[in-house]
Amino acid sequence: MNDLTIIVIASILIVLISRLFLKHWPRNGKIGINLEKVCCPNCKEVMPKIRKPTNLKQALWGGLTCKNCGTEMDKYGVKINS
Ligand SMILES: [Zn+2]
Repeated sequence: MNDLTIIVIASILIVLISRLFLKHWPRNGKIGINLEKVCCPNCKEVMPKIRKPTNLKQALWGGLTCKNCGTEMDKYGVKINS
């Protein structure tokens, strides 16, 4: 087996493992990933895909602040009362 074969097999394995990983990754909770678009729970404004965290909690766990009305929400678009 030469180097190229090993690299090709390794890349295929990495792609397969990451696809499995993403498929079974939780879609809720703190470590979940939300790939759907999020709307503001208050004014229904669609949030941008690229988010700018406004505090440390948002930077760590995800979450958004509405530019339109200032409502804080988590990454699933559920309003946070703070
Ligand atoms: Zn809003």
